[in-house]
Amino acid sequence: MTSGIGATVLGYPRIGPRRELKRAVERYWVGRTDQDALLATAAELRAAGWAELRDAGLDSVPSNTFSFYDHVLDTAFLVGAVPARYRRESELDSYFAAARGTDDLPPLELTKWFDTNYHYLVPEIDPGTEFRLAGDKPLAEYREARALGITTRPVVLGPVTFLLLAKGTNPLARLDDLVDVYVELLVALAAEGAPWVQLDEPAFAADRSEDELAALGRAYTRLADLHSRPKLLVTGYYGSLGPALEVLAGTAVEAIGVDLVAGPVDGIASVPALRDKTLVAGVVDGRNVWRTDLRQALATAASLLGTAEEVVLSTSSTLLHVPYDLDAETALEPGVRGRLAFARQKVREVVLLGQALRDGVDGAWADALDEPIAAPRRDDAIRSRLAGLGPHHRDRAPYAERAAAQDARLALPALPTTTIGSFPQTTEIRTARAGLRSGGLSRGEYDERMRAEIGRVIALQEDIGLDVLVHGEPERNDMVQYFAEHLDGFAVTDLGWVQSYGSRCVRPPILHGDVSRPEPITVPWSSYAQSLTDRPVKGMLTGPVTILAWSFVRDDQPLGETADQVALALRDEIADLEAAGIRVIQVDEPALRELLPLRAAEHAAYLEWSVGAFRLATAGAATDTQIHTHLCYSEFGEVIDAIDGLGADVTTIEAARSKMEVLADLRSAGFSRGVGPGVYDIHSPRVPATDEVADLVAAASRVVAGNRLWVNPDCGLKTRGYAEVEPALRNLVAATRRVRDSL
Ligand code: GLN
Ligand code: ZN
Repeated sequence: MTSGIGATVLGYPRIGPRRELKRAVERYWVGRTDQDALLATAAELRAAGWAELRDAGLDSVPSNTFSFYDHVLDTAFLVGAVPARYRRESELDSYFAAARGTDDLPPLELTKWFDTNYHYLVPEIDPGTEFRLAGDKPLAEYREARALGITTRPVVLGPVTFLLLAKGTNPLARLDDLVDVYVELLVALAAEGAPWVQLDEPAFAADRSEDELAALGRAYTRLADLHSRPKLLVTGYYGSLGPALEVLAGTAVEAIGVDLVAGPVDGIASVPALRDKTLVAGVVDGRNVWRTDLRQALATAASLLGTAEEVVLSTSSTLLHVPYDLDAETALEPGVRGRLAFARQKVREVVLLGQALRDGVDGAWADALDEPIAAPRRDDAIRSRLAGLGPHHRDRAPYAERAAAQDARLALPALPTTTIGSFPQTTEIRTARAGLRSGGLSRGEYDERMRAEIGRVIALQEDIGLDVLVHGEPERNDMVQYFAEHLDGFAVTDLGWVQSYGSRCVRPPILHGDVSRPEPITVPWSSYAQSLTDRPVKGMLTGPVTILAWSFVRDDQPLGETADQVALALRDEIADLEAAGIRVIQVDEPALRELLPLRAAEHAAYLEWSVGAFRLATAGAATDTQIHTHLCYSEFGEVIDAIDGLGADVTTIEAARSKMEVLADLRSAGFSRGVGPGVYDIHSPRVPATDEVADLVAAASRVVAGNRLWVNPDCGLKTRGYAEVEPALRNLVAATRRVRDSL
């Protein structure tokens, strides 16, 4: 007996192959179109997506994977868990109010979705939240698809993960009430005739307490015991389900989806309760862009054949995190292109594997399965350099020695002032970059404009009275893509957009082979800036971990090896910056915490390679070169030792919003080097007053010694305008001088 789910994907991108949804919602937000036009665009995108998946040959097509902004927010609206303050006349306007805020109301908090670069809106759940089936999105999409002749499988975020992602007083205590709403939803979907529903529980790919596992068991026992309901597929992706697999297998759900890319196969066969279920084997990587080794994937799936009543093929996770279509890329070199698969290509892989698993591998399949995948670009020079590294390549002189040498060379005042790197990206800068891309501006003209911009930024900083200056990063489109474009071993795409949050998309570079640096990258800009002033200009680099975190990274070798290759390129760049007279160099690692694995058992290994790569990048610097690092956050928690381990001479962090609480944490962790807690919150257009900044600086100076305390904004200034930045920096300098005088 077959269950009838067959080959499928767990989710699909929704922003539109040409970011049509992004443009449509943004037009609606600024009042350039009405709701009907927006709804029509959305319906077209959904229809095209379903038809595409059906025509590609999937046995089961997911629906309700569309979203105007975020699927967690969709779920909050579905179950009536939306704070009353966002209520507007139309539901869509309430939805966007919660997502984006209004003039007088901040939006719901936005935060990272597991260990991906997607961000979701955090539901607010408290004892007073009245759950009810308040929306009908999964039902409406099911009907909409059926009207087009396509029977779909509605996908809904599972109730336990929804509550685990929420904030409030013990949201999980509300599980039984929430499950009532899911019961109602399943009954309604059954009445519509939906044969299957998929409930996603990715929170169980992370470590969970006994209580949380028990909650999972309780919720699915109740849902599965309903007698009139669609069949249930429960998935837990971004890693292995661990003990949650056994819990789910102990309920009467019909199918369980497992991530066999991020999690191991072993362990699955030892769960006897899977025997009467369908195992949805996620063997095609939903998160990365590499073509699947089909033979190996087939073998993995086949190895599970006796474990469950039926094994069907799928992606390891939703395909939300990969771009739509490799065929849309025209400029990728063939050696790289031949190794890639985006969402559309992954659907074909799933279909092919599904047929091969079901029908056996005859001649036709065999050819497709054995189509060779080229090896990555190999650079023996880099490999032998890496092989020859010893521990001393990751160590600098003791801090006391460095501090003395740097103090003597830089001769900075107490409480030195600086910024994090970027200055506002003005229309002129963007126009020049567009001109260079389109050919309207020659390289020489473009460089001239960038130099003029650097000149302006240096003069402004001198006038404001900052102590350590920056060149302003006008030449960078993005802090990772810029380096990817200048290093060998990376490719960039034209249309490889993936949703980061709401209408915001990113185009991650593809790190496909051995990485090396053909020539200096930032040196001409930094040395030009330094030639204009006697004050130190900070060289500005993006760190190896952040470069990996915001790229699609080759998966044929450990991440640590790849990180070390990037680190070597940065190490050479630092040496060249030093040779050009740069005395202070900042290596940004805002993503250090982002890549932290979901399971605690994997933290130590991650921190070892990530910290090691940063140290490899920076430890070649001379004792009197001051190395800074910048982190965009201040809730260090599990990574506090790692931050200390980076060994930077100065660490700048976000702190304005948390009112310097972080300093006490740093002190108790034994952190003794320079620190620059951000005193100006650049995430808001507000200009902080001199008094306000002075209070923060004074508070910080009671915790950190004056010659180790830096004064700087929270983060880079590229998203702000000069109208705010200039007065804010003037106030920052005035406040610092006031506190300095009182030291
Ligand atoms: N140097 C970068 C800038 O100022 C740092 C950005 C970041 O931390 N995200 O833009
Ligand atoms: Zn930052």
